[in-house]
This record gives sequence, structure tokens and C-alpha cells, in this order.
Amino acid sequence: MNIAAIIPAAGSGSRAGFSKNKILQKIGGSSVIARTVSAFAQNAGISRIVVCANEADRKDLARELAPFDLCFASGGATRTESVKNALGLLAALPCPPDYVLIHDAARPFVSQKVINDCIDTVRQFGSAVCALPCTDTAVLAESGFISDTVERDKLFTLQTPQGFAFAPLYEAYGKITESDAFTDDSGVYKKYVTPPRLFAGEKGNIKLTFAEDFQMETYRTGIGTDTHAFGAEKDHIVLGGVKIPSQRGLIAHSDGDVLCHALMDALLSAAGLADIGHHFPDTDPAYKDADSLALLARVYALLQERGFSVVNVSAAISAERPKLAPYIAQVKKNLADVLHISEQCVGISAGTNEGLGYIGRGEGITVFANALLRSVF
Ligand code: MG
Repeated sequence: MNIAAIIPAAGSGSRAGFSKNKILQKIGGSSVIARTVSAFAQNAGISRIVVCANEADRKDLARELAPFDLCFASGGATRTESVKNALGLLAALPCPPDYVLIHDAARPFVSQKVINDCIDTVRQFGSAVCALPCTDTAVLAESGFISDTVERDKLFTLQTPQGFAFAPLYEAYGKITESDAFTDDSGVYKKYVTPPRLFAGEKGNIKLTFAEDFQMETYRTGIGTDTHAFGAEKDHIVLGGVKIPSQRGLIAHSDGDVLCHALMDALLSAAGLADIGHHFPDTDPAYKDADSLALLARVYALLQERGFSVVNVSAAISAERPKLAPYIAQVKKNLADVLHISEQCVGISAGTNEGLGYIGRGEGITVFANALLRSVF
């Protein structure tokens, strides 16, 4: 069985407001069109891919799609014209396809399940239109007032891919007249062949239309650790900006806030930035006795400048003494305030080392910290 995929990619994408065709836009390092073509290229049921491209985009598209085995058809002034050109190209092959799947270039998140369901449905019914049932109440309106309600059970929104038996679709496209205005292929098939069959689409199979549709959330984790040794007699140590009674202080150039230091490294690491030694060197007199909570605020500012926000942080403090439990609530509050997150998003655990090693002998404190950042690209 011979199944081709047609991907009309000749639109301007003007509603997204980019300077060039929106499908050349990158999402998470890969262009929209490369993601879309890749979905069909990796489906074993598809034997040929045709991309409809404008002359102006041809070079960019050829570069983006270099890894894929495909051919180009000329883009037309309308989507209908582009598809017609692609169908003509396929019809002229020595062995035209039995079926064709037509898919919007700007739907890069189409799943293999949807493509497979389209193939199964078109083989059974001769047509297969990807559709979602309408879940909101739908009405007809005129001049801003509701004129009629519509039975929701009968309402669907259409997605792509749309699959059709090749020969009748090709013939139907030959019958299109100037007065016809189709926004998709199901309209052509319905008018000139027969009402096409629906199959279930997916919510995630969105069409990228406006600039905000191209902004993808990404998440990044980071890990950090720090250790400070106990030194001279003192009356406190500082953890998370809280003064905690202790017979000995921690040896440090700064205030020795080992928890803030581990957290800063976790945050910087998640953002792919250099560690705190780079940003706040302990050879710099500016950081003598520095308030580490204030340095944490500066790290937060560095992340903000780069478009990151903090989702949550968690830290495990390993210390034989002093007793930390009574101070944890205040530590969480301090860190939450500085990182602009709720206290529920700050996890702090504290434990001893069961008398083992340098921690067990009460020679120092070690903290392991973890951070999750969110950004929109
Ligand atoms: Mg340190």
C-alpha cells in the first residue's frame, strides 16, 4: 500500500507576526517544519512526503529539511492551490499513491497515534478527518448578540491530518471553481465526493497561529553542594539567613551560610551559569562577612535577567549539631521570600550523619541542594 503525506507550507504565517514564514521558527532548538516533517518521516506507513513551498522559502526549507527524504511542490497563492499542485505532482508519478494524508505544517505536535489512526480510518472509509468534539457551549451570533444555540453533540473542530483515497480527491480538486473557498481538504471532499469520515484528534495537536503559541515552557534542574568546617568558638551559625545558636561558628570568608551557598550553586547550575566562586570570589574583600541571603537575591536577579523563574528548591542539611528543627520554618520563609516562591516550594530536610565521618565527628556541615527553574522560549 502506497500512502503519501502532503504538507502545505507556503503560508506567510502573518498572524504570528514574524519576519519570515512562521514554520521556520525554532521551538526548543528545532524548527516547526522539521518537527512536523519528522513526525511523518518516522511513520512506517508513509512512503512519500511532499512539502508545498514558496520560492522565497525554498532555500530555508531545503536547509531545515535536509535530513529528510522528501520532494517539494510549488506553493500556491492559497492552501487549496498548494495542495492541488502537490496532488498533480503525485498523480504524475509512475505509481501514484493509493491514499494521501494532508497535514498543516504548523501542527508540529501531531502524535504517531493520530497518524496511525488516520491511516487506519482512511483505509476503512476512504476518508479520515481528524476532529475534536466541542466541549464548550457553542452559539451563533450576529452583531454581538446570540442569534441561535447549536447542539453541542453535533459540533466538532477539525484538525489535520486529513486522509483521503487519492484518486477521488485528485479528481475533486480538478472540479474546484473560482467561487469555491475551502479552508481545508475535508470541504473539497464533502462538496465533490462524499461526506468524509471523522476520527478522534488530540488536544495537543495544536496549530501554531499566534506569536504566543510559539512560546514553549521549558524546565531545568540543577544541583549544588557546599561544606563548611566548624572553627573558633562563637555563639551562632547562619543557615538560610537565620542565626542559629551554636558553640562554634563555621569557617568562612562570608557569613558561612552553607545552605544559601549550596542553593546558589544549584540555581546557577540549572541556568547553565558559572558557580558562586565565579560570581562572588572569596578572594574579593567585598564578600568578607557577606550576607549570603543577599547574595542569593543577586543570583535570583541573574536568573530573572535570563528569563528564568524558580519553580521549587529543596535542600538536605547534614549536621551532627546544632539542633536545627526549631529554625527550619524561619529558614523556609527567608528562602521563599528571596526566591519569590511560596514556602510550600521550599523543601528543607535536616539530619545527622549517625556519628560517621567528618560530619559525625561534628567537624563541619554539608548541604546538598536541588533547584527547578522554568523558562519560556
Ligand atoms: Mg560556601
